[in-house]
Amino acid sequence: MARVVVIGAGVVGLSCAVRLLEAGHQASVVARDLPLETTSATAAALWYPYRAYPFERVTGWAATTYDELVRLAADERTGVRVVPGVEVFRAPTPQPWWASAVPRLTRADHVPDGYAAGWAFDSPVAEMPVYLRWLTARIEELGGTVTRMALSGLPDGADVVVNAAGLGARLFADDGSIVPVRGQVVLVEQFGLDRWALDASGPTYVVPRSHDVVVGGTDEEGRWDRTPDDAAAKELLERASRLVPGVRRAKVLGHRVGLRPARPLVRLEEVAGAAGNRVVHCYGHGGAGVTLSWGCADEVAALVGPPA
Ligand SMILES: Cc1cc2nc3c(=O)[nH]c(=O)nc-3n(C[C@H](O)[C@H](O)[C@H](O)COP(=O)(O)OP(=O)(O)OC[C@H]3O[C@@H](n4cnc5c(N)ncnc54)[C@H](O)[C@@H]3O)c2cc1C
Repeated sequence: MARVVVIGAGVVGLSCAVRLLEAGHQASVVARDLPLETTSATAAALWYPYRAYPFERVTGWAATTYDELVRLAADERTGVRVVPGVEVFRAPTPQPWWASAVPRLTRADHVPDGYAAGWAFDSPVAEMPVYLRWLTARIEELGGTVTRMALSGLPDGADVVVNAAGLGARLFADDGSIVPVRGQVVLVEQFGLDRWALDASGPTYVVPRSHDVVVGGTDEEGRWDRTPDDAAAKELLERASRLVPGVRRAKVLGHRVGLRPARPLVRLEEVAGAAGNRVVHCYGHGGAGVTLSWGCADEVAALVGPPA
């Protein structure tokens, strides 16, 4: 049995830990920020491949994750639900590059004023505060742990280290190609919405959850600060109200900002560690960490291999 340390308690690190524990490894998660304090906790979190590359690998990881999230949606304790919705466009658009990852995609019958076309599909939505708690509980149920620990380098006491540190990979992998893409959202009261809507060009999106609705968004590459910006909130609410008119009258409950860990290509590979151990990098999921989580976790577990 290999002793595996997973760095990072966002959706990527927690999913990897679940798969490693299920495979029989002794896995522990260490992280500076606990699950509800991570970027992952801010995510909308609609299954949708956004700002993550390369297309071929992302489509495969996204397809695996779609199936797993649909399976998890059967248990309401997970916080995952399958929700119908539509992605809209200002001009007729061919099928998206990731179309093979979803079981069914149809041309939308109706689109809001100002739009010319849309693709409708059912998509899993993970209510992140609930889902991250569920993932943590699953780790503990399988005998793993999640511990707060800010690291200044890769730990050397484990046989295998999984680097799922998101932006922290700048330090752990000395990788300057990973950059923040700041995203701001507004939480509004649930006003009876049961469908998501997305215009990825904004990006503008409205995602219903059980007690609130996530309204986004912004997309600012290279900006590190996490203080909500009033002007940005006003502007995104205006955009979202054109997409889903009910947003205009909904009471604002709060504001959230997260830093997407974006990289030209998601990095998922094994390298030799300086301490003679094995290091599996799994970071750079951009705007799609939830969407790719189970596909990447499966691949990480396959790289680590079965327990000796
Ligand atoms: C506004 C917004 C909306 C989004 N919507 C969606 C969506 O609808 N669908 C979707 O799929 N994705 C969405 N995303 C993207 C998604 O949130 C990210 O891709 C995902 O959270 C990345 O997960 P992660 O686990 O890699 O990183 P993170 O969640 O950032 O976790 C990184 C972990 O590494 C730890 N770490 C870092 N440095 C250190 C260190 N030195 N020592 C110890 N631990 C360290 C952190 O503390 C943290 O625990 C959205 C993001 C934002 C900001």
